Amino acid sequence: MKMIVDYELCEGHGECVVAAPEIFEMDDAGEKVVLLQENPDESLREQAVEAVKICPIAALQLEG
Ligand code: SF4
Repeated sequence: MKMIVDYELCEGHGECVVAAPEIFEMDDAGEKVVLLQENPDESLREQAVEAVKICPIAALQLEG
């Protein structure tokens, strides 16, 4: 699977980091998300789906 982040949309609230800490972290300024794994392992699918669902401005997309 592939995680896609729309950095233009991201407002840095960090919900995705809480939902999927192995896939996302916040940047040093705490303003934007940083994608740690563009192609997360299948074992992280539940976290990845949860992150996509929880992002309040739909900045995340999961392919595959
Ligand atoms: S939940 Fe959405 S808006 Fe918040 S940091 Fe993650 S991608 Fe950005």
